[in-house]
Amino acid sequence: MNSSLKSFSRIVVKIGSASLVDQKTGIRHQWLRSLIQDVAELTRIGSDVIIVSSGSIALGRRMMTAKGITAATGNLSLEESQAAASIGQIALCSAYSQALADHGLTAAQILLTLGDTEERRRYLNARDTITTALKWGAVPIINENDSVATAEIRYGDNDRLAARVASMVGADLLVLLSDIDGLYSAPPHKDPNAKHMAVVPAITPEIEAMAGAAASEFSRGGMKTKIEAARIATAAGAAMIITSADQLNPLSALSSGKKATWFSPSPNPINERKRWIAGGLDVSGLYRIDAGALKALAGGKSLLAVGVVAVEGDFSRGDTVKIVGPDGRVVGTGLTEYDSADARKVMGLNSDQIAERMGANVRTELIHRDDMAVELP
Ligand code: GLU
Repeated sequence: MNSSLKSFSRIVVKIGSASLVDQKTGIRHQWLRSLIQDVAELTRIGSDVIIVSSGSIALGRRMMTAKGITAATGNLSLEESQAAASIGQIALCSAYSQALADHGLTAAQILLTLGDTEERRRYLNARDTITTALKWGAVPIINENDSVATAEIRYGDNDRLAARVASMVGADLLVLLSDIDGLYSAPPHKDPNAKHMAVVPAITPEIEAMAGAAASEFSRGGMKTKIEAARIATAAGAAMIITSADQLNPLSALSSGKKATWFSPSPNPINERKRWIAGGLDVSGLYRIDAGALKALAGGKSLLAVGVVAVEGDFSRGDTVKIVGPDGRVVGTGLTEYDSADARKVMGLNSDQIAERMGANVRTELIHRDDMAVELP
C-alpha cells in the first residue's frame, strides 16, 4: 500500500458503475474483492474508509435483463430507473457486505438524497449517522437513494455526492475510481498531444476548461463533475485523486506508480468553512453565554449548554445562530445542535443534569466547535 495513502486518516472512495458492473456478467466480484482487500488493509492500520458506490441502476437493469424483462434495456423511464435502482441496490450492498465480512468487517448502508447534504439539519443528522457507524468500526457504503430520487431532488452523479460526503465527515482524502486515469489537458481520445496532469495544486479557470462533459453510458458524471467534486473536496481540506479502476487492488496499485491525478487540498480550509458559517445570512436566533464559556470558545472548545445563560429566537436544529458574550458583543456564529425549545430546556445544565432531563443519548454541546466560527475582538 502506498505510504502516502496510509498517511490519510479518513478516506472516501468513490466507485463508478462501469468499474463495478459488467453489463453482461453483473458484479465484477474479483475486482470488488480486491478493492475490499485494500480497504481492509487501510482500516487495519487505523484509517476510516467510506465507500460511495454507484451501480444500483446498472446492476438492477442487468438483473432484470437476465430474467428476460426487455423493458429493462434501452432508455429507462424515471420509474423504471427507480425500480432498477431498488433491485440493484440491495444486490450491490449484499456483495459489499459479503466481501467485507471476509475480512471481519461490517457494511453500513446509507442512502442519501440531495436534501441530506444541502439542508443543515439533515446534514447534521446524516453526518452523525456516518461518524457513528465509523466509530463502531463499520464501513459505510453510500449511494444516492435512486429508488425515490427524482430529477429535481437528485445529485445525479456520485462524484459530487462523494465530495459532499468527504466534506461532511471531514475526510482528508477523496479517491475517485473511474474509467479514466486522471485529468488531461484535452480529451485524450481526441487529442494525441493531450498531457496527463499528475498534480493539480489549485482549481483554476484553466483546469476547469480542461474538463469536457464526456460521460460513458452508465456513469452520469464525466470530467466536469469530477472537477466540481475536486472544488468541493479541496475547499473542505481534503486531497483528491482521480485514477482508473482498470486493475485489481486499485488503491494499493497507487503505490506502484499507477497513473493518477492528485488535487492538493486548499491551504486554508478551516478558514474557508468558518467563513462560510460566519457569512450565513439566515440567522435564526442567539445564545447568550457566560465568561467561562467565552474562555472555552477562545480555547477552541465547543459551546456547552452549561455556559449558556439565555436562548433567544425560534430555531431548528442545524440553523445558524449567533453567540453573544457577557458584554453583549457577538463573539461567534454557529450551526446549532439543538432546536430553540430543547436549548431552553438544557441551558445552564451540565451533562449529568442534561442526561437526567433529556435521556442519556443527547449531546451536551449546543454548538460543536467544527460548526462554529469564533470572532473574538
Ligand atoms: N447513483 C447511481 C447508481 O448507483 C449512479 C450515479 C453515477 O453514476 O454517478 O446507479
